[in-house]
Amino acid sequence: MTSYRLHRPEALRALTRAMITAAGWSEDEAKETAEHLVLANLSGHDSHGIGMLPLYFNSLADGNLKPQAKLSIRTEAGPFLIADGNVALGQPTARNAVDRAIVIARVGGVAVLNLLDSHHIGRIGHYSEVAAAAGLISVFWVNVAGRPPIVAPFAAKEARFGTNPIAIGLPVPGGEPLILDFATSRMAHGKARVALNKGVDVPEGYIIDGEGRPTVEPRHVFAQEGLPLGALLPFGDHKGAGLSLIAELLSAGLMGAARIDQKPHKTWIINSLFGVLIDPARLEPDESLRQQRIESYLSFVRAAAPQDPSQPVLAPGDKERATRIERERDGIPLDDETWSQIVAAAKAHGVDAESF
Ligand code: NAD
Repeated sequence: MTSYRLHRPEALRALTRAMITAAGWSEDEAKETAEHLVLANLSGHDSHGIGMLPLYFNSLADGNLKPQAKLSIRTEAGPFLIADGNVALGQPTARNAVDRAIVIARVGGVAVLNLLDSHHIGRIGHYSEVAAAAGLISVFWVNVAGRPPIVAPFAAKEARFGTNPIAIGLPVPGGEPLILDFATSRMAHGKARVALNKGVDVPEGYIIDGEGRPTVEPRHVFAQEGLPLGALLPFGDHKGAGLSLIAELLSAGLMGAARIDQKPHKTWIINSLFGVLIDPARLEPDESLRQQRIESYLSFVRAAAPQDPSQPVLAPGDKERATRIERERDGIPLDDETWSQIVAAAKAHGVDAESF
């Protein structure tokens, strides 16, 4: 088991900004990426936090992720916004596309967004939080391409899907939004990477090895010389597997964007995103009625007797908010392996990570 150190969020934001600008991106792109990645860590999703930077920097070193690449708009007509991500740095690219869709939804009540072929866009709930802060309901379906398949279809011994995440956000007038955000695999691939870096097993029932046998060793879901790649299992058996298949086709498949069944030949992670943003005032114009209806139902759900009294019944988004309070106070834990990878990636661009 490796050890970890606690880092101040503002230090990690400053380090990320320094790394991203040193590598050739703009201050604005660096700021958005830093906010996004550190918020993922603060939310407890270290799999999508600044531990992703070494991976992005590998893609950059291989010439596959390029600072010059930017979002371009293919179609903007009525509620529809179709944008090409051009494999640009994902967090600012997706934020840009979602911000444009928010403007459309605020004017016309609804926006249908298809962002095609961005580089890895991170924690999808981030975009539901952005939409909810603008008062909008959002539903996002995302695929993961540019990598070998890593999630097995239900009842299969080998992988055919990416971890294809889905996020849904529902603003609550005067309160915190509901943010449901998950990979359609039982465990996000990045969480297996965190377990691998920490030198710990994953729980039983989450992964299979290259022969299709159950295992708790995270190394089986990472390419290893001479060993066939294993797979993550879908959550909810056939139900999660079905959602994953639909996510692939909705986000990328219909429009001919990069798909998981196209053999990857570059070191990158490509996400396409299909999203619908809706102004809830077009459904129920009376804000206080909306608030009252949602809150009365949430109180009913939260009042369910917990199986374990120390584990209260939560609503989607509660856990991330509680972890943010804890980590803002105590710092963000990063294991030694993840930190040393970040230090090396920073050093390659003349940035001393230890000085932040
Ligand atoms: P997870 O299993 O931690 O589930 C998170 C969701 O479940 C949140 O909505 C959370 O509020 C809710 N939740 C957690 N505990 C709860 C409880 N006790 N009671 C009620 N609700 C609870 O998430 P995950 O599948 O590990 O995904 C992690 C992140 O990875 C997500 O942000 C996802 O968007 C991201 N992801 C991104 C990509 C990509 O390619 N960009 C791919 C896969 C996953």
